[in-house]
Amino acid sequence: MLGGGQLGRMFVHAAQRLGYRVLVLDPDAASPAGAAADRHLRAAYDDAQALAEVARCAAAVTTEFENVPAAALRRLAQGASPAAALPVAPPADAVAICQQRAREKALFLRTDVPCAPHAVLARAADLDAAALDALLPGLLKTSSLGYDGKGQTTVTTRAELAAAWRALGGVPCVLEKRLELACELSVVVARGRDGAWVHLPVQQNLHRHGILAVTQVPAPDVAAAAAAAALAAAARLAEALSYVGVLCVEFFVLADGSLVANEIAPRPHNSGHWSIDACDVSQFELQVRTLTGLPLTPPRQHSAAVMLNLLGDLWFTRGAAAPQAPRWERVLALPGVHLHLYGKSEARRARKMGHLTITAADAGSARAVALEAAQRLDLPAF
Ligand code: ADP
Ligand code: MG
Repeated sequence: MLGGGQLGRMFVHAAQRLGYRVLVLDPDAASPAGAAADRHLRAAYDDAQALAEVARCAAAVTTEFENVPAAALRRLAQGASPAAALPVAPPADAVAICQQRAREKALFLRTDVPCAPHAVLARAADLDAAALDALLPGLLKTSSLGYDGKGQTTVTTRAELAAAWRALGGVPCVLEKRLELACELSVVVARGRDGAWVHLPVQQNLHRHGILAVTQVPAPDVAAAAAAAALAAAARLAEALSYVGVLCVEFFVLADGSLVANEIAPRPHNSGHWSIDACDVSQFELQVRTLTGLPLTPPRQHSAAVMLNLLGDLWFTRGAAAPQAPRWERVLALPGVHLHLYGKSEARRARKMGHLTITAADAGSARAVALEAAQRLDLPAF
C-alpha cells in the first residue's frame, strides 16, 4: 500500500481480515495505516531503495492517496525485469489523470460526461481571456494537490481572480463556474482486471466549508433517473481509464435534476465509509478483491446508513485550550452507532480524525439517531 492515511488503514483492516499481510510505504512516522499494517516502511514515495524493497516483498501494489507519484506506480508495474513486474491497481495512467483537475476535465469531455463550465489557467497570460467573464462568480482551484476544499477560492471579479491566482502561488489552476447545487452525490465502483464491475448504492453527500460532513444512503433527495445516470457515467469513466480497482466519482445535482461530474478519486472515498457497517462487502474489501483478483459480488446494503465525519474541530469545542477528545460514550449509548477513529496522534481543526456510521432498519430511523448523535457532539443538524 502506497500511502498511509485513514483510507490505507481501513484497507489494511479489510486485507488482514482476508488473511493477507500488508506493507505500508509512507514517510510519516505517525501514519494511521502504518500503525495497523504488518510492516511500515518509512520513506518517500519516490525513494528508489524503498520501491525496490516494496517490489521484493509485495505480490501486488495499490494506493490510497492520489498524490503518490504516478511514476512510482509505473515503476512497480514494470518491474526491473519483466519477471519482476507486479500487478498494480489502480493503473498509473488513471492515477496521473486524477492527479490533475485539468486532465480530469478533459476526460469528462472525452467521455461525454457533463461537467461544470470551466477554463484551464496554465500560465499568467491565460487570465486575460475574455471568455473567463462567463465563469464568474467561480471557484479557482489549483489543478493539483487540492483536497478537502484546500487550494480553492471563490472569486467574483476579474481583479479577485488575478489576486487569488497569485495567492495560490501562480500554479496551474482551473476556474470553474460556481453552480447552484440542489444536492451532491457520489458513486463508488469497483472494476476487476476482466472489466467486470460492481458498485455501491448512490450516496448523497453534504459538504461544509468544502469538506464532506454527512453521507446518507439511501440518498433522500436523488431521483432514480439521476442515480442511474450517475452510475452509467461512472461506469463509462472506469472503462475509459481501463480502470482496475475502486473508483469514486463525485457529482453535483442541479435544480433541474441534471447531473454534473465534479471530480474522480482513484481509490475508496470518504463518502463510501458507511459501506463497512451497512453492506455485506465494503469499499475496502472491494479494493482488496480487485487487487488480488478475487471475485466481485454486487455489494448488498443490509441497513440504512448515515455517516458523520468527525473533524479535529470537535476536540476544541467549548473553547478548551488543549485539545480534548469528545465524550464518545454519549454517542455510543445510541443504537446502531459505529465509531471509527483513525488513530491520528494530533487533533487539528478541519483534520479528519474519524467518522460515525449510524445504521438502522430504515432510513427514517437512521436519520433520527444520526441527528441525535450530531446534537450530542455539538455538530450542526442536516
Ligand atoms: P476537493 O478536492 O477539495 O474535494 P471539490 O472540487 O470536490 O474539492 O470541491 C469541494 C466542494 O466544494 C464540493 O463538494 C462542493 O460542495 C463545492 N464546490 C466545488 N466546486 C463547485 C462549483 N463549481 N459550484 C458549486 N460548488 C462547488
Ligand atoms: Mg471533492
